[in-house]
Amino acid sequence: MPGRGEITGIDVLRVPALNKSSGFTDEERDRLKLRGLLPVAVLTQDVQLDRTMENVRRKADAIEKYIFLNALQSRNERLFYRALLDHIEELLPIVYTPTVGQACKEFAHIFQQTKGFYVTPADRGQIREILDDWPEDDVRIVVVTDVERILGLGDLGASGMGIPIGKLALYVACAGIHPRQCLPVMLDVGTDNEALASDPLYLGVSGKRLRGPAYDELVAEFIAAIQDRFPGALVQFEDFQTANAYKLMNTYRDRLLSFNDDIQGTAAVVLAGFYSARRLLGRGIKDMKVMFLGAGSAATGIADLTVPALVAEGLSVDEARKRLWFVDINGLVVQQRNDLAAHNLPYAHDHPPMKFIDAIRSVQPDILVGATGTHGAFTEEAIRLMAELKERPGVFALSNPTSQAECTAQEAYLRSGGRAIFASGSPFAPVTMDGTTFRPGQGNNVYIFPGVGAGALFCRAARISDEMFLAAARALAAEVDDADLAAGKIYPPMTDIRKVSLNIATAVAETAYAQGLARRERPGDIRKAIAEGMYDPRY
Ligand code: NAD
Repeated sequence: MPGRGEITGIDVLRVPALNKSSGFTDEERDRLKLRGLLPVAVLTQDVQLDRTMENVRRKADAIEKYIFLNALQSRNERLFYRALLDHIEELLPIVYTPTVGQACKEFAHIFQQTKGFYVTPADRGQIREILDDWPEDDVRIVVVTDVERILGLGDLGASGMGIPIGKLALYVACAGIHPRQCLPVMLDVGTDNEALASDPLYLGVSGKRLRGPAYDELVAEFIAAIQDRFPGALVQFEDFQTANAYKLMNTYRDRLLSFNDDIQGTAAVVLAGFYSARRLLGRGIKDMKVMFLGAGSAATGIADLTVPALVAEGLSVDEARKRLWFVDINGLVVQQRNDLAAHNLPYAHDHPPMKFIDAIRSVQPDILVGATGTHGAFTEEAIRLMAELKERPGVFALSNPTSQAECTAQEAYLRSGGRAIFASGSPFAPVTMDGTTFRPGQGNNVYIFPGVGAGALFCRAARISDEMFLAAARALAAEVDDADLAAGKIYPPMTDIRKVSLNIATAVAETAYAQGLARRERPGDIRKAIAEGMYDPRY
């Protein structure tokens, strides 16, 4: 007999959270009235997983794999998450960068079934009411974007919905957040991308982007609606253009459990890279100089978190800032310039203006961090000069997708005679040179945001502090073992991501308790309590 209120028959197969397809046992088939609706064989999830991966691998290209996995998520949610978790290294580049960027570009053409929640300017005054239509009441994480600037691909309008969907899939796979607690949101405020908007298949609001006070009011109304419908939910801001990204982060960081992943998540993952590099360089990060190429939200976010990390090592704020240098499209960021944005000013040094190569020669940084969105910005000359100046030059080419990276892994290793400590934003394959194989580390935000979110939610943090991101960066760096480091890899294997996320969540929650920001009674063993609450896709 089905339980009271239990869905039966074909409807079970239509609910992705319930559907196990050929995985239903004979007893379940009888109870749920599925006999005859399924082929007779009862398969274990392991066998279903083998078939899933066989199907993924037979697809001709990454976007076809993405479409297949997206359909699987809509059909059998647990099998999808099991695949993602068990094959994270293989599938991460599909559900996340770089393929997700391509999927967003093609969103209007590959769209099959709606997922997530859309807010448009026409919803003004009614957002709270419309939010009642979302079928789940226990939402804990909201990833919201307006996709004015995505993964180095620019304005993708409503086609960017793939971003919050992908990020939330990673919260589930990596940190064990339950899928029904996740809400992907697209603030569809129009697009200035004319090619996109003129496509007859485009699914978003037509017309130019909403800007100014009307935009601010829409976002404020949305946030208020979220707080009312899902009190205590974490809001993650994603892929907003730099000025809005800062505005939203600064407006809400002390008022709401929230963070901006492009700024704060990136900062923590790159800072973890600095902590790992210090083991290779044999000195503290307070003794290193870092030069950022690109002075936008990603680079500034990294610097803003590196300052408290250096202060924790004994420097003053001023001394810390002096170790961090920026070069943007107009050259070295120095006090004499009058074209700097507010977020650049704390890092504008008293130094003559100069271009990138001269700046490297003058400052002699230990690590170059590229966050320009510009392919090839780390020129051959720049990498060779770094290798001339430093025994182990740090070369972090963070821009996504792969085609936009400041240099490739191969270029970094070749041009530095195999001495570069290389990290990238998008994945690069290992490089073999003269019989030595180098394994590039990917400074992927996925190492950080799921654990930070899970830790903050676990302890019901009132807000997310810089100290929590510092704790996350340290916890991530602690996961890098000596063998990885010896092969040049400054991040842990992606296959360890659940353990990494669990340790980060624990460190974040510990920090929240220490700072008095946690609102849940402290359990005896935080790590164990977090682990026990993690979603398990197995059946
Ligand atoms: P942004 O638009 O805010 O800033 C870009 C900056 O790059 C600007 O300061 C601009 O002046 C500068 N710039 C552009 N071309 C340049 C050139 N040739 N030389 C010197 N400076 C140049 O963008 P953002 O949000 O800071 O993101 C930048 C890049 O960082 C993106 O491509 C994104 O993919 C990448 N990113 C990577 C990660 C990661 O790896 N984990 C995370 C976030 C962002």
